[in-house]
Amino acid sequence: MRFLILSDIHANWEALEAVLGQAHGRYDKILCCGDIVGYGADPDVVTEWVRQNVGSVIRGNHDKACAGLEDLEWFNPVARTSAVWTQENTKPQNIAYLRNLPQGPEPIDAFQILHGSPVDEDEYLVSEQDAAQVLPYLDVSLSFFGHTHLQGGFQILRDGIRRIPRAGSSMDELPLEPDYWYMINPGSVGQPRDGDPRAAYAIYNPEQRLVSYHRVKYDIHGAQKKILDAGLPQMLASRLSTGS
Ligand code: ZN
Repeated sequence: MRFLILSDIHANWEALEAVLGQAHGRYDKILCCGDIVGYGADPDVVTEWVRQNVGSVIRGNHDKACAGLEDLEWFNPVARTSAVWTQENTKPQNIAYLRNLPQGPEPIDAFQILHGSPVDEDEYLVSEQDAAQVLPYLDVSLSFFGHTHLQGGFQILRDGIRRIPRAGSSMDELPLEPDYWYMINPGSVGQPRDGDPRAAYAIYNPEQRLVSYHRVKYDIHGAQKKILDAGLPQMLASRLSTGS
């Protein structure tokens, strides 16, 4: 059973379509670490695709906000504007689906998926210190997480934590070593923030104990045009060009 791991799609259909095209035939089941909607202009298309195709999915903080489960006071103005737009431009049945998504961590076979951290879906795990603080709360040796939109993650050693940096390559393989624990971020499908504007995802093959990180070019201009035509903040379109 090979898993296609997606996170932070953020209503970007063009990016998701490119990921599915490139990953075609290389996985058996799809998992999603949350943030299906928010920021992008295609919440219905993306949510309906997730409903029909994703085996296991947990909610992200934007799914929570767009479903009306979170006080928008905590969001920055751009995120708040996009959450309100999403609430007003998404079919009620899709909003209901987002509202009922489970909170992670969600166990999948011998590993788990979560959005921010194992204790808080709104917590960002960026540095080794961030990861070290949540180690006591990890129940399994392999977790996939999202939220930071930074492809990579952490390898947890006996004497410390090492960041797994991903930069520039189209595909990078990470063999999971026995005795180590891992927190793997597949990167963001729809709004990368690691300086590489290409859509990010990962594939996990448990039999081979192999994670592969991938990037794929997509129709950024198409996604940007939809964002601008929808009247969403201009910055949400421009940041897709730089992946920042
Ligand atoms: Zn996100």
